[in-house]
Amino acid sequence: MIETVGIIGAGTMGNGIAQVCAAAGLKITMVDISDAAVARGLTTVGNSLDRLVKKEKMTVADREATLSRITGTTDKSKLAGCDLVIEAATENEELKVKILKDLCPTLKPEALIATNTSSISITKLATATDRPDRFIGMHFFNPVPMMALLELIRGLQTSDDTHAKAVAFAKRVGKVPITAKNSPGFAVNRILCPMINEAIFALQEGLATAADIDEGMKLGCNHPIGPLALADLIGLDTMLSVMEVFYKGFNDPKYRPAPLLKEMVDAGRLGRKTGKGFYDYGASS
Ligand code: NAD
Repeated sequence: MIETVGIIGAGTMGNGIAQVCAAAGLKITMVDISDAAVARGLTTVGNSLDRLVKKEKMTVADREATLSRITGTTDKSKLAGCDLVIEAATENEELKVKILKDLCPTLKPEALIATNTSSISITKLATATDRPDRFIGMHFFNPVPMMALLELIRGLQTSDDTHAKAVAFAKRVGKVPITAKNSPGFAVNRILCPMINEAIFALQEGLATAADIDEGMKLGCNHPIGPLALADLIGLDTMLSVMEVFYKGFNDPKYRPAPLLKEMVDAGRLGRKTGKGFYDYGASS
């Protein structure tokens, strides 16, 4: 039974995962590299729970109880007692390998490890651990408290027992699990990210304005959000690294990242998190 969950990374995804796990009654230790990052993560959870209270989807007492189940720290040794650790740090293979290598000696042998990577091979990341059979991809969607799906990805080494425990965990935290094989982008992003990349090519070519591209996909395809607004929500740096992984992973030019996407990242226009992307969210540059 999973009762204690460690989360590595208190950013967009990490704090969302912490919130849904804590709301489901699990005890959470959320780790990041600086006190400021930890504090930002905790504040985001607090604000998100405030919104639920305002909408009368949560009581004030449940808000307090949920927050009290989350401990934020920069000390990774505090993950020692966890039944499950979910890695949700920056999308960078070298960084994730280092995090996993450092993590394993501190964990109890039976603990499961999951990664929230959007694009890196689960089979490959599993080899950075001392327990590849107890390693699985848990791909949450953004914003985590709102999105019902949890895509589970089995690496070549993931055991049936680990997969069964991950399915039970998904249901416990109120998500609907689907299972995909390990392949670049898994199932959902394999389809979604090239669509967003194509929208960026269309914008770059002057085919239509950002607003018209998004309006077209919303009204013509019944998507709840346009691809460019979604790219801003995901983060353009994350989008770029996903497309680079596809490009290299499939060795196929159809996955090449749009030059405009690269340029936006070079300019530091990463979307909502920096206040500017394909749309303006109030930043100065
Ligand atoms: P983010 O940039 O918002 O947060 C990443 C956090 O990781 C930062 O707070 C950073 O300080 C922290 N970090 C970096 N190195 C660390 C270390 N050594 N130890 C602990 N913390 C460290 O990124 P994000 O959007 O939350 O993405 C996190 C992961 O989730 C990535 O693998 C990404 O591909 C995946 N993901 C993102 C989305 C999305 O829409 N943003 C969706 C699904 C999955």
